[in-house]
Amino acid sequence: TEYAEISLKDIDQVAKSCFPLCMRHLFEKVREDHHLKHGGRMQLGLFLKGVGLKLDDALAFWRAEFTKKVGSERFDKEYAYAIRHNYGKEGKRTDYTPYACQKIISSAPGAGDHHGCPYRHFSEDNLRAALGRMGLSSRAMEDVMDKVRNKHYQLACTFTFEAVYGTSCDAGINHPNQYFEESQKILKS
Ligand code: SF4
Repeated sequence: TEYAEISLKDIDQVAKSCFPLCMRHLFEKVREDHHLKHGGRMQLGLFLKGVGLKLDDALAFWRAEFTKKVGSERFDKEYAYAIRHNYGKEGKRTDYTPYACQKIISSAPGAGDHHGCPYRHFSEDNLRAALGRMGLSSRAMEDVMDKVRNKHYQLACTFTFEAVYGTSCDAGINHPNQYFEESQKILKS
């Protein structure tokens, strides 16, 4: 899309200001742990492709983190193929589509996994802490938690969006890449 343009040098800044919580979390985890399990690599990797990160930049991003833990030979053998695959450069050359909220919400992250939707999969304490780091007031946080308790996860995310950017989001959030694009529209206007 016309908003999709992100380069490696400002990816940390963009993640902080424009990613939905599910992707902020994965992004922070890969920076922190220099690793992500398969579900997280898929969820974040396809999202990053959707926001316009080019294949070469994606390879550089994952390589820089993962090779802090594994050798670059192992990275090339075990991980680079899958990244190229997500970009349709290997295998059947299918162009894989970033996951929508529904798919992420209905995923089942296990121990050590960081994918999924924080509104659905975080403990209440972790969710509150994460929302606090996004700058939500306690009033806004209670509105979000109310939606979470009623299992309206996408509405909880929409309320978060509205609180963070101080504007209404009438369409509602249904896709992490839509969240990103809506935030870009606001920040660039
Ligand atoms: Fe991500 Fe969608 Fe959950 Fe928001 S509602 S955190 S965009 S999966």
